Amino acid sequence: MSRNKMSPFRKDSLVLVAITALIFSQTWRTAMTDEGGMRLPKNVLPVSYDIQLLPIIEEGNFTTPGFVEIVVDCIETTSAISMNSADISIDESSIMISDIASQEPIGVMNLMVEDDRQIITIELDSQLMSGRQYKISMNFVAVLNDELRGFYRSTYEENGETKYLAVTQFSAPDARRSFPCFDEPNMKAVFTIKLGRKLSMSSNSNMPKIKTEPIQGMADYVWDYYQTTVKMSSYLVGMMVSEFTGVPSESELNRVPFTIWTRPSLTNLTKYAGNIAPQILKYFEYFTQIDYPLPKVDIAAIPDFAAGAMENWGHINFREADLLIDEQRSSEVAKQRVAEVTGHELGHMWFGNLVTHDWWSLVWLKEGFARYVQYIGTDSVEPGFQMDEQFGVATLQSVFRVDSLESSRPLDFDVNNSASLNTLFDVVVYDKGASIVRMMANFLGPETFRRSMTRYLHSRAYANAVQDDLWRAVQEQIELDGLVLPATVKTIMDPWTNKMGYPLITVTRNYDGTSGGTISQSRFLLRKSTNSTDSIVYRWWVPLTFTADFSLPQKSIWISDKEDSIPLPDLSATDDEWVLFNVGQVGYYRVSYDDTNYGLILQQLATDHTVISAKNRAQLLDDTLTIARANIVPYEKALDLTKYLALERDYAPWTAATNALDFIDIMLYGYPDFNEWKVYLSDLVVPLYKYVGFDEGTRDTHLFIYTRTHAIHWACTKLEIDDCVQHANQVYASWMTNVITENDISPNLLRLISCSAIANGSDPEWNFGYQKYLASTLANEKIDLLKAMTCTKETDIIYHMLEMMINETSGIRLQDANTLFSSIAANPVGHGVALDFLATRWDEVNAYFSGYVGFGGSSMPGLFRSLCDRVNTNEQLAESTRV
Ligand SMILES: [Zn+2]
Repeated sequence: MSRNKMSPFRKDSLVLVAITALIFSQTWRTAMTDEGGMRLPKNVLPVSYDIQLLPIIEEGNFTTPGFVEIVVDCIETTSAISMNSADISIDESSIMISDIASQEPIGVMNLMVEDDRQIITIELDSQLMSGRQYKISMNFVAVLNDELRGFYRSTYEENGETKYLAVTQFSAPDARRSFPCFDEPNMKAVFTIKLGRKLSMSSNSNMPKIKTEPIQGMADYVWDYYQTTVKMSSYLVGMMVSEFTGVPSESELNRVPFTIWTRPSLTNLTKYAGNIAPQILKYFEYFTQIDYPLPKVDIAAIPDFAAGAMENWGHINFREADLLIDEQRSSEVAKQRVAEVTGHELGHMWFGNLVTHDWWSLVWLKEGFARYVQYIGTDSVEPGFQMDEQFGVATLQSVFRVDSLESSRPLDFDVNNSASLNTLFDVVVYDKGASIVRMMANFLGPETFRRSMTRYLHSRAYANAVQDDLWRAVQEQIELDGLVLPATVKTIMDPWTNKMGYPLITVTRNYDGTSGGTISQSRFLLRKSTNSTDSIVYRWWVPLTFTADFSLPQKSIWISDKEDSIPLPDLSATDDEWVLFNVGQVGYYRVSYDDTNYGLILQQLATDHTVISAKNRAQLLDDTLTIARANIVPYEKALDLTKYLALERDYAPWTAATNALDFIDIMLYGYPDFNEWKVYLSDLVVPLYKYVGFDEGTRDTHLFIYTRTHAIHWACTKLEIDDCVQHANQVYASWMTNVITENDISPNLLRLISCSAIANGSDPEWNFGYQKYLASTLANEKIDLLKAMTCTKETDIIYHMLEMMINETSGIRLQDANTLFSSIAANPVGHGVALDFLATRWDEVNAYFSGYVGFGGSSMPGLFRSLCDRVNTNEQLAESTRV
């Protein structure tokens, strides 16, 4: 392919980068608006809570009357107490304050409510004295809302009847929507909970139940009393009142009893989670050398849930799709997802619950570590998943895309109002956090890393941590283990957490027989704005690893944050041998090479690509194709690298390639060269498609199955290769005519087969998919069918689906709206319809989502962002900007 044929791509890649940057900067600008401070004054701090809540789960009266009694330490003499409260009606006349030692009451003058700041202030007629303890109590009524936050209600159908449950989601920070409290992560206390319920229901909370007593004056209601918790943050309080059934795990799996809770009709889907969860917990006890401190673990599958799951200590909530597995009907993707989310949440029992970030700006301290340990936790129970092969393409390369924009942000980052705290839970916190933890684990070595984690967790147990607490513990372990590093771990790691972005390492060899040359570092940006006012010096301490032969141990060298470049070390390679940097893509940096080294690598890939590890082949593809987008290497060179894909059979390289090629595919869509591009892609994909085959074999490994989904994605959906499309149509037609049932279709292929048949069919194919979607009770299968339904090319059906998205009777849950919309936006035909829908129905869509902030930010920017992924003309950019 010649240069001018790629030119439309270059121009419009800039359009895409521009619009992505626009969205990110807008999100953060909103986030940074100051509302006058959201922090509590810290003059009094909570010691213990007694909480009594009675969720009324009845249509027409969704409320939660409650009572709270809080013991506080007075740290600084004051005549006012400020606490958090949001959407709660407090009975002002019920507020009582007293000195615990003298039992003297303190008079309340006034209750000041600041809705914007989500703070209430009780003004007193005399002072609370520092050093003394006081008791605060009050009655209130909270809303049992349908916004998937605070104490909220969720619904499901059973035997034709709508059932409700009440459940909590307090992160971040929404405990204040359930009861007035000191809702900051470093204001830890113990919680004694008393939950009211109807006799026909059951309740759960963080701790085991002690006793049940009738509620005076309410015939069908009882109080459940719970043991007092350990000292913890308010966002970790968890409660549920439901008609769920609990399925206990087999007791020999762990000394800690596990119970999986679900709606009664789905108890047969709990086996997988019930089996792996106790074993993962046991592995983490070994990894941290610290026992899980609570007497039990409950895990509940919630029909409506904003996040994937939430790590309430001792009572973890999941989305149904992320917990429930049908051994016959769930895909390998669904199984891995359940294992990973389970690993993630159980990892939080230590990283987050035992040791908590001091403030939300440091939330990476819990999310980065949980994402990292979800890999090793999953690996401990499912070694066949080859999690380490997946880290680079799934986590590191995914955050690289965001962190290469000027509008990215550092890991350590704050916002100034409570409503925006949710936006801190973004891909940077999770995936960059995990990636730099993995990089550190690698340069420390596995044993020093593990021991330093134990040291860190012990040093801040039942308390909070800032970054320096982590670095201090690691440094102590480094010294005890006699490990030699070029600087302290704090010096090395601070630039990775305090600055946004990451380095591009440029390797330039001399080829004069001396093994000479240079290694330099600079910040990698997809696009540099000409009027940037950023004066930060972007340099890092980079642990460089390299090899010229994967059968030998890797070599390493550091470049410091004071050095732009260093001389090349001895590469142990002759001038006609390639060298590769960032072995296993463990470092958080990209690499580019001089032309000759690229040529040597290309030659190697063409002759025997397996000499280079699969992880590094994935790295080469992702690095080079991304660097080409930034015009650092010519696109021809990057595309030359893709030629060897005709020989590639492994999962990680095909994942990296799919991400990069999808992007080019989208950018070329509609341009004259698109057909030529499809021919080129077919040459790469058909050999893989033939190799993996359409039909599944009984001995296929997990990653082989994953690789097949890449092959069919390209062959059926993108390139519409005859053999694939006909095969898919045939299976779907047999399903529609009852020749086969869904049990005869591999769950790993259900989405792709349905997608292809619906794309190439019309109303009957779509309708059949929709009926199967409505009929399915398996959440992960439902998501697959929903995604397949969005593959249609009929614009009126697509429009109809968008209307279903904002209609609560359509059977599509609010939590799945983003998935539906982004899948439609990714469909070449759907994109225009979605753009138009958002432009003309903005107010309606906004009203439907109001209150539902989703997870990781509000829904509206999420919808808008998914539209931008397919923008490839200036007209579409103009249309998007209008939206
Ligand atoms: Zn998490």
